[in-house]
Amino acid sequence: MPKNITTKKKISKEKTIEKTTKKKADFTQENALNVSKILKNVRPTPMIHNDFTNDEKIEKITEKFTEILNILGLDLKDDSLIQTPHRIAKMYVNEVFGGLDPSKFPKITVIDNSMKYDQMIVVQAIGCLSFCEHHFLPIDGFATVAYIPNKKVIGLSKINRIVQYFARRPQVQERLTKQIADCLQYVLETEDVAVHINAKHYCVMMRGIEDTHSSTATSDLRGHFKTLPETRQEFLQHCKSSF
Ligand SMILES: [Zn+2]
Repeated sequence: MPKNITTKKKISKEKTIEKTTKKKADFTQENALNVSKILKNVRPTPMIHNDFTNDEKIEKITEKFTEILNILGLDLKDDSLIQTPHRIAKMYVNEVFGGLDPSKFPKITVIDNSMKYDQMIVVQAIGCLSFCEHHFLPIDGFATVAYIPNKKVIGLSKINRIVQYFARRPQVQERLTKQIADCLQYVLETEDVAVHINAKHYCVMMRGIEDTHSSTATSDLRGHFKTLPETRQEFLQHCKSSF
């Protein structure tokens, strides 16, 4: 009798494990599918495919940065500099260029617009830190993002996360603006989206023209934001008031 109970218990435990694993697998698959679908609908950053894992990328970039710093004549035996190549490599792969890795795409949740909200929703002054792909220097600005819901609404912090994901790539501001708008248009199933970015480029401030005051504004207005003058005006007013 006790033997039977043990066997029964064992079987039911195995079943539970099987169930959990299956559930987990389905969830991961569904999630991965969503991210790749979303990214297919966003204009791409020019990329080539390689099979390096993130750890391999960190290792290789560390080697290359060691070379670069040596060529610059820095003494990497100095204890202040010794970890710099590895620090830069980790920062590139895990942080400032994390937006090149689809597994770092934020989990997006949209809900049905059961409250029938039909006015503009605006998220202002979203911190937008990126990296200029021409000079590998920071772009430092703010984004204002708006949409008029159709059947879906999105959690507000998700808009900040979408901005941050695409900003964490080597970028030109024009592409960044459009990638955010592409993503929102697809996820929210509406053309009525608008993105405005105002940013300072450190490659303009620290080199070249060396202008520390100018900033660059880009916008992508779609649907009603493009065609209805009053909607456009209302959005641009929000953009102005966030600076
Ligand atoms: Zn630049």
